[in-house]
Amino acid sequence: MEKIPYSKQSINSTDIDAVTDAIQQDFITQGPTITHFESAFAAYVGSRYAVAVSSGTSALVIAHRAAGIQAGDRVLTTANTFVATANSIELAGGIAQLVDIDPKTYNISVTELEKALLAPKRIKGISPVHFAGVPANMEAIAALADKHKLYVIEDACHALGSTWADSEGGLHRVGDCSHSDMSIFSFHPVKQITTGEGGMITTNDPELHAKLLAFRSHGISQPIDKRKKEEQPWTYEMHDLSANHRITDIQCALGLSQLKQADNWMKRRSELVERYNLAFRDEDNLDSQICPKSATPSYHLYVVQAEGRDELYHHLHGLNIKVQVHYIPVHFHPYYQRKGYQQGDFPDCETYYDHALSLPLYPTLTNKQQDFVIEKIREFYHGR
Ligand SMILES: *Cc1c(COP(=O)(O)O)cnc(C)c1O
Repeated sequence: MEKIPYSKQSINSTDIDAVTDAIQQDFITQGPTITHFESAFAAYVGSRYAVAVSSGTSALVIAHRAAGIQAGDRVLTTANTFVATANSIELAGGIAQLVDIDPKTYNISVTELEKALLAPKRIKGISPVHFAGVPANMEAIAALADKHKLYVIEDACHALGSTWADSEGGLHRVGDCSHSDMSIFSFHPVKQITTGEGGMITTNDPELHAKLLAFRSHGISQPIDKRKKEEQPWTYEMHDLSANHRITDIQCALGLSQLKQADNWMKRRSELVERYNLAFRDEDNLDSQICPKSATPSYHLYVVQAEGRDELYHHLHGLNIKVQVHYIPVHFHPYYQRKGYQQGDFPDCETYYDHALSLPLYPTLTNKQQDFVIEKIREFYHGR
């Protein structure tokens, strides 16, 4: 049986031509294609600035640093995410303080956020994740951030193209930073668009933008004193410690080409999600993620809550259907257990995890392949 992965990149001849062209230019890193990709990306999500970096993780780390995190500062984030969301807070010198999820949307729970903010701790920011592409409640999160003077960094690695409406009917695209300081994207091959490895930070704040550019490349910037630059044209200054988080022009050429196809791919992913939803509408053994009516998600994953998840996982893998589990709760990992977390800390996240399964979802998945997946799941629960 052919292998059906849970996710897969789409690469066509336009992408290959773009990369072939980029690799023959004078600048294969830090050239003009990076700026083109950044401008196109900012225009797509509706932000003023975009800064391309080497990965989503790098993007998260330098975003927390640009936001001014200090040693011992806490940032609230969801327990249901890829470890990078929490790790980046700790890598930037802070403390990742985990919060339980909403059992319907699988996103960070606003009620639990409010509770966390009652304790007299040095909380500096909130970093919500738009899980699977379903937007977190940004209006409520921004209101809490305002009230407690916190920064907000959206981990939008799942949500390129997702849109939502605020309570006054205003439309927002994830990444426009209308309710946050910065948003982060990843271009890992399983995400909506890919650059092999890569990431992006969007913001509307010119000061943050300048800091991000410096943090991308060793904390180096041009001198503020223009005269010095005239007298010593070779000069540059390093104000803050950072590392090499740069992306190449070759990768950005791929990103630019991929971005042009993002809307088509998003449409196909939505079609597939609707087909799954329809197929499982009367299936008592499966529950699907609930998306608020005010949002139109761009789906990165199709996640279900499945009865007998472990057996179903093995059953489907036996048929070469490579379903996945997103995510092992962050506080289950030994590193976070050493920080004092333990099993039982976030019951809704843990119940979710016990039943979580991500079914195959990617633009080139055919209806026929999807029907095969659906049929095998039905057979698992009801026999032939
Ligand atoms: C993929 C992902 C990241 C990390 O992105 P990389 O580009 O792999 O470094 C961070 N957060 C979430 C939620 C992700 O899914």
